Amino acid sequence: PAFEATERAVRLPLRAGLEGLTPYGAPQLDVPVLLNVNENPYPPSDAVVADIADAVANAAHGLNRYPDRDFHELRAELAEYLRVESGVVVVPEQIWAANGSNEVMLHLLQAFGGTGRSVLSFAPTYSMYPEYARDTLTGWVAGRRAEDFTLDVDHARAQIAEHRPAVILLASPNNPTGTALPLSTIEAVCEAAATSGPPAPDGGTAASVVVVDEAYGEFRREGTASALTLLPRHPHLAVSRTMSKAFGMAGLRLGYLAAAPALVDVLRVVRLPYHLSAVTQAAALAALRHRAELMSQVASLRAERDDLVVWLRDHGLQVADSDANFVLFGLFDDRHAVWNGLLERGVLIREVGPDGWLRVSVGTPRETAAFKAALEEVLGW
Ligand code: PMP
Repeated sequence: PAFEATERAVRLPLRAGLEGLTPYGAPQLDVPVLLNVNENPYPPSDAVVADIADAVANAAHGLNRYPDRDFHELRAELAEYLRVESGVVVVPEQIWAANGSNEVMLHLLQAFGGTGRSVLSFAPTYSMYPEYARDTLTGWVAGRRAEDFTLDVDHARAQIAEHRPAVILLASPNNPTGTALPLSTIEAVCEAAATSGPPAPDGGTAASVVVVDEAYGEFRREGTASALTLLPRHPHLAVSRTMSKAFGMAGLRLGYLAAAPALVDVLRVVRLPYHLSAVTQAAALAALRHRAELMSQVASLRAERDDLVVWLRDHGLQVADSDANFVLFGLFDDRHAVWNGLLERGVLIREVGPDGWLRVSVGTPRETAAFKAALEEVLGW
């Protein structure tokens, strides 16, 4: 039964700025072909499922106790994963994790943002960034990306100097454009950010914390490197990753970052105690044991992505270069009509990004074929 207020109406003391806002999120519709939120289309195998179930059952015996607050074992395994995936050696004290990289980034803003401070990013970019700012009472400043969605270093430097942000958020590969930043750009931002932050308590100037959001890092093309390689030179750099995308574990909610131990240490101050449940830790550890199998689809997803870019361009569309598991394409006078036409044919993609563009995630070959067939019909090719 619906909730009915019986006593009296009250006005809730909603914080200024939250009036009339709706919760973030793409529509969750029951459609045959889901290509809208950049998930990995391959579910875990029966063997992986069985191992996760065993691990969770084991953890369940201890559910009367709170979990390991500092998730030591998981930090060690994530460090090992990064070593194998990127060739970069980090120690467990450099790893932080939370319920999705969304929560990791919220922790960063809780620790470094706040009233009177700002976070700088470059649009178009991930639409959750302004929400992290809003929720931590941090000012939001959006510089811009160039026409081709790359980041102009001089513009970035000028924005940093003007706004003296506490945090700089760089998505690479960027969502929704798929654009990866060259290491030289990230390095230039790190240099500019070393003494460009808010005033420090000792009268000097703090650094701006540079966050490189590599949620889609594993899908990068040949020749694109991870910002993890820059960690040893930049103690104000944090590189964020997630198990939601390449790893195929979006439902698990496990994101993490690598940074200098001193940076990780302050995140421990703002997290809620026991934020990573024993069930999450057990399931993540079990999944990480199967990393070879879970990651085996990344190469085929990359190839599928590259084919899709070529196919769309061959049909005369504009397509942004992509280092991610999705492709931004356009331009359409009425993108909503195209989105809706695809939906009517059972294919859900995302109406996101600058005017006229649409974003499609890379699915299985069968799903991609369904997308292509539907698009051909909608555009009358
Ligand atoms: N960063 C970017 C750029 C993303 O696109 C996403 C997911 N859409 C996230 C972070 C958050 O992912 P999660 O919380 O699942 O780790």
